[in-house]
Amino acid sequence: MKHDTTYIKKILTGKARITDKQKFSCIIFSVAFVHLFLSITFGYFKVVPLFIFNVISMLTYLSCTQLIRREHFWSVYCITYFEIILHSFVTTICIGWKFGFAQYIIALIPVGFYICYTMNTGHRKIVIATASALVATASFLSCKVLSFFTTPAYEHRIHTWELRLYIFNSICTFLFLIVFSLIFISEIRLSNAQLRHQNEILDKLASTDPLTGLYNRRSMEVFLNQALKSESGFSLIMCDIDNFKHINDTYGHDFGDVVLKEISHITIKQVGSNGYVCRWGGEEILILVSSSAKETAGRIAENIRRNVANHVFELNNKWIHCTLTLGISAYKDGDTAEETITNADYNLYQGKRSGKNKVVA
Ligand code: GH3
Ligand code: MG
Ligand code: MG
Repeated sequence: MKHDTTYIKKILTGKARITDKQKFSCIIFSVAFVHLFLSITFGYFKVVPLFIFNVISMLTYLSCTQLIRREHFWSVYCITYFEIILHSFVTTICIGWKFGFAQYIIALIPVGFYICYTMNTGHRKIVIATASALVATASFLSCKVLSFFTTPAYEHRIHTWELRLYIFNSICTFLFLIVFSLIFISEIRLSNAQLRHQNEILDKLASTDPLTGLYNRRSMEVFLNQALKSESGFSLIMCDIDNFKHINDTYGHDFGDVVLKEISHITIKQVGSNGYVCRWGGEEILILVSSSAKETAGRIAENIRRNVANHVFELNNKWIHCTLTLGISAYKDGDTAEETITNADYNLYQGKRSGKNKVVA
């Protein structure tokens, strides 16, 4: 029981989707139950044509479970649609308009749009939904007109139940519309949540580098533009792996990839929430530190250098050491982002020339 209530809660809050089979089974059993009640009522009051009609309707709905099992939902909807309209005409002829049986026709309109939209009815779905809504409207009005020109043959047998049946039919119709609207809203919520999740995945794919998980160059350009506008200024650290060609040539490109990935992880860990790390080129990593204080960038750069130098890289039982050279540059008012990058690059170059495995500010 607890499981059932949490499942219903999940459906209503858009966290779980009610399947088409569950949806249609629910509708079919509810409608069959209404017809069972009406069969008993009409049988009791000896309104024979309506008793027979309702028994046949109930059996038809119960046999629809076979169609639902084979996922012929469209056929189930068509049967329901024609049965409800026919039922309204037959009740109008037999007992008149006042019992409110035509109300069920109104409920067909939103359901028709919903079914046409969710089932695979192609580009004609709006046309089909609109046409079935217009036929439903015309049927509703025709029942009313018909009631003016016919004298219901069995009304006198059941007239004491006029109000009771009217209320019963109204409750069924409104209840159906309310439950149906709740399901509809929950499906919209679920679709929106799925769309948001897919957008997040796409965003991540578009902004990161697949090998290292670092931000890509495009993202860094966005961060640089934001940093240029910020009050606190920023610093850049340009990193380049030392003798990486040699690592690739000696241990293979796969080992090179492992080195690149692990250095990226070390870098992300050291930068933390102090800035952004991006794969700027092949084995060049650019770090944007959200502070123009040289000490902050210097401390982060030195931590990265030391951690990489102390790290042992391993693939297929081969172990190597590897180092990194880093160039720092702090943004100065009036500089462009490109000039700041060039300065960091220049310092990196100085580091390479003066023996590698060092930080140059
Ligand atoms: P230096 O110390 O002067 O930087 O020497 P280096 O050998 O590292 O020279 P350089 O920085 O020019 O080397 C770049 C190399 O990085 C060349 C290229 O094969 C390698 N590389 C670039 N991208 C990747 C990658 O995604 N995976 C691997 N395994 N290697 C890459
Ligand atoms: Mg390089
Ligand atoms: Mg290099």
